[in-house]
Amino acid sequence: MNLDEDEITFVEPVYAPWDGRRVPVTLLGGYLGAGKTTIINEMLARTDVPIAVMVNDVGDINVDARLIERQGADTLDLTGGCVCCSLKNGFLEAFGQLRQRAEPPEHVVVELSGIADPRPARSLVETPGFVHDSTVVLVDADGFDDLVAETSVVADAVWAQIRAADVIVLSKQDLVPAETSRRVTNRVAEAVPGVPIVAAESAHAAAGFVGLGARRPIEDIGRGASLFDQHRTRVIPIPGTTTRAQLDRLLDELPTSVMRAKGIVQIETGELLLVHVVGRRRSIEPLPMAESTEPTDLIVIEL
Ligand SMILES: [Zn+2]
Repeated sequence: MNLDEDEITFVEPVYAPWDGRRVPVTLLGGYLGAGKTTIINEMLARTDVPIAVMVNDVGDINVDARLIERQGADTLDLTGGCVCCSLKNGFLEAFGQLRQRAEPPEHVVVELSGIADPRPARSLVETPGFVHDSTVVLVDADGFDDLVAETSVVADAVWAQIRAADVIVLSKQDLVPAETSRRVTNRVAEAVPGVPIVAAESAHAAAGFVGLGARRPIEDIGRGASLFDQHRTRVIPIPGTTTRAQLDRLLDELPTSVMRAKGIVQIETGELLLVHVVGRRRSIEPLPMAESTEPTDLIVIEL
């Protein structure tokens, strides 16, 4: 959305905080009323993990921030502009505030404004101490047809959000006939082939999506007080002698039902690689020294 463009004047630090560790950031997009706050509340209710939530509301009063239910929830209000365009500096300042903390949160979830385009917001997230984890976009099965019925600023915003998504969460399916859900799913799938589309009601998959990204060792997250439905997760063992080519092949062969995979893989050279699959997007990068830990198996969440 193009509200007035906010020229960036915020000065980012040249140092990396927290000895170089980075906090994963999930961007949660979706048009007004798609259910972003509901998902965030579900996520917060399911975990004690310290998650900082930035809530962006274009208006001067942050309604959604008041709807965050967890007592003492760690929320940062971003009001009076949109972080993708008219409130870029405010967005960067919020990360700046977090950077002042002695201990970082495990994860940051940004509830984007209803009109926000997640792409420009995403580039701002790559600021010292933080790393973009995934962009999750909610599509309201009940409102979708009306929103995109004709060419409009709103329709453009909705499609821009969909195109920016690593994962789509279809919400409000309980309000529409199954036929409508199917049609909306098909239209979205046609626009963004390969991007997983998951039902908001199905085992709180969206909340789980946020959970797997957290910074602490992922095997802890796979067990115990899990954010996501255990039945949808599995572990692919990675032998310590795996070569880079074998790893690539293994990832190539993951079924399309895989919504997300993450692991720290040691290849035969001894190098630790951070493997991160979100929908159709895949990244394999050397694990930063500060985040170095033991290799893990590959944890996979499927639709
Ligand atoms: Zn914007």
